[in-house]
Amino acid sequence: MEPGLTIDQVVAMFIHVAKRMQESRDLLTQADKAIGDGDHGIGMARGFEAVQKKLEEQTFATLEDLLKTVGTTLIMSVGGASGVIFGTWFRGGAKNLAGQQVFDSNVLSLLLVDGLRDVKERGKANLNDKTMVDALEPAANRSKELTDRPLEEALVTVTDAAQQGVERTKQMVAVVGKAKTLGERSVGHPDPGAVSTYLILKSMTEYVSSLRSR
Ligand code: ADP
Ligand code: MG
Repeated sequence: MEPGLTIDQVVAMFIHVAKRMQESRDLLTQADKAIGDGDHGIGMARGFEAVQKKLEEQTFATLEDLLKTVGTTLIMSVGGASGVIFGTWFRGGAKNLAGQQVFDSNVLSLLLVDGLRDVKERGKANLNDKTMVDALEPAANRSKELTDRPLEEALVTVTDAAQQGVERTKQMVAVVGKAKTLGERSVGHPDPGAVSTYLILKSMTEYVSSLRSR
């Protein structure tokens, strides 16, 4: 087993994620313009700007506290359906982390598996409904097989699974959320929330890879 990340490193990782999501505003806006109402990039950028501020100001004694704060901040600041959905991912993902001080592949898997469960409970979307679940669920499933692997390897693999999920959403017809009014016309475009899910995981991977090359 790899030693994993300290709480300070996890804070730095989510600050990196927050910066990347703010940089992705236009890309996500374009994605949501194609199949929704075009506000996803603005919402995510606003939410992750608030997350960045929180993480830079506050100190965290536990991973549970840190991830719950990320989730709550997203719920309070993103707005729209995705504020609740992405906030629920991180709040749900923190549920079984009491006492955990190190972010390793096992914690990554709990974050994805428990987060996915709560997202599905909350939003009622299933696989193939063309939502972020289509990126998060394959990532969560893959993570279960990787709990004894080094964190970087696990992150690279789950990010790849999420990216393949994004690709599959292009062929799906939206049945929940604002995109459902487009029906068949949503085919050909990826789901914006699935793209965000992939970008969050990709940014986490970038951070962990950067530690090795320092
Ligand atoms: P809104 O739909 O309110 O405009 P956003 O545009 O910010 O919110 O986010 C849209 C994204 O939120 C979708 O692409 C989808 O991935 C995700 N989403 C919406 N509703 C659900 C749901 N019930 N379950 C899971 N994800 C959802
Ligand atoms: Mg929208």
